[in-house]
Amino acid sequence: MEIVDVTKSHIYSPTELDRAEGQVIEALKEHSQQPIPDPDRWLGEELHRNILLTSVDAILNWARRSSLWPVICFPACCAFEFIAANASRFDLPRFGMGILRASPRQADLMITAGTLTWKMAPQVRRVYDQMPEPKWVIAMGACGISGGIFRSSYNVVPGYNRIVPVDVYVPGCPPRPEALIYGIRMLQRKIAREHTDIGLPSPLGK
Ligand code: SF4
Repeated sequence: MEIVDVTKSHIYSPTELDRAEGQVIEALKEHSQQPIPDPDRWLGEELHRNILLTSVDAILNWARRSSLWPVICFPACCAFEFIAANASRFDLPRFGMGILRASPRQADLMITAGTLTWKMAPQVRRVYDQMPEPKWVIAMGACGISGGIFRSSYNVVPGYNRIVPVDVYVPGCPPRPEALIYGIRMLQRKIAREHTDIGLPSPLGK
């Protein structure tokens, strides 16, 4: 169905505009007399006949590693590399990470992009505590790993792992977006190997 774009027509008066819009609506009405088929009917028959078997661990880990939602925790300059990683050139959303959460309740990944001071440490710990389980942490950059060039400063935390448990360390000052993406891939690999205890009795009776 072709619908005329009235904005591209040569229309010089309100009357002509009304008439063009009317034509668009009439054309849409004429072609919309039957309901559009349900999406299910578009699936191939083969899909209906197939059954997938997998383990609980595999399906849970697949879902978790494919939809990591980072919480906003960017206290210093490494944040710009994270922002670059999210932009169109590196395109982090293709890993299911398109949604940066301002609320820790809706996030399961903390990427610590920047220097952490002792003054900010309680807030970072509070954000971490408010994230639901399971949750993961990537220490991004030299400051995130060890305090970096500010390590000997009285006010800088010498590594986020003093405040929260860290799963993956991404070195660099700052690490490039490729390095961060590599770290995220490593975290996804780690998640793929996790085991979820769902309380079923063991076949060995232990
Ligand atoms: S590692 Fe370098 S770029 Fe990153 S926050 Fe520290 S000083 Fe800034």
